[in-house]
Amino acid sequence: MNVKEIRVKSCMTKSKLTDYVINPYTGCEHGCKYCYADFIRIFQNIKDKWGDFVFIKANCPELLIKELEKNKPGHIWMSSVCDCYMPLEEKYKLTRKILEIIANSPYKNKFTIEILTKSALVRRDFDLLKKLNAELGLSINNLDEKTARILEPFASSPSERIKTLKEAKKSGIRVFGFISPVFPGITNLEDIFKELSFCDYVWVEFLNMKKSVLNRLMPIIRDNFPDKVGDFEFAINNPEEYHEKMKKQVRELEKKYKLKVIEIVIHQELNLK
Ligand code: SF4
Repeated sequence: MNVKEIRVKSCMTKSKLTDYVINPYTGCEHGCKYCYADFIRIFQNIKDKWGDFVFIKANCPELLIKELEKNKPGHIWMSSVCDCYMPLEEKYKLTRKILEIIANSPYKNKFTIEILTKSALVRRDFDLLKKLNAELGLSINNLDEKTARILEPFASSPSERIKTLKEAKKSGIRVFGFISPVFPGITNLEDIFKELSFCDYVWVEFLNMKKSVLNRLMPIIRDNFPDKVGDFEFAINNPEEYHEKMKKQVRELEKKYKLKVIEIVIHQELNLK
């Protein structure tokens, strides 16, 4: 693993997805096989494979102090192209420092915060999340531990993630499930809705079927889930029909489990065959 500390020009960045994103790290130790954040490698001319490098943005906290004052009020998402609670966070505590700065800032009430992770390490920071105007989401796409080890080898297990969400909810934090990505034939939406029915709401995001993702993912699907290849091929070749059918199922489950679906994310523009 190529790990190095770097200095960056900004901590909070304006985003098309929300008002601001904070990515304390470049790269992600979780190395999920379907991750689409690996475009960063091309942008930054990084030769290492996705999951094999993490750059620590060491000066993020000092930059943030000024940015909180300067930036307009808004929503901050942590994180869009890394998991801010990847295992290295235990050592570097960048995410914790960032949350501490916001929690102790006179500008704290200018910002709402959304944390999205696949790691139980976020438990360490419940004290700060409770002080902030923050919501916590954990991503989950199946309940089977073996499947998770294949597709998300270094993230917390699905049962640990659900346990973490339950603990957060119990401690008074608003929580959501991020059902993502929905894998054709692998993700059992009903089982996940049932498990997450205690959450305040969920998001559902379908698999990003852009070429670079499928090139990495499909060999793994062929090797480990040969009986699901047909489901993937159907979704890839008939994206509209597939998404319509799945959207209908999501809305039915929303009613059945009384679990609000805040948004269904479809990467339609990226369905490149
Ligand atoms: S945790 Fe998120 S950012 Fe990290 S590799 Fe997995 S999908 Fe990508």
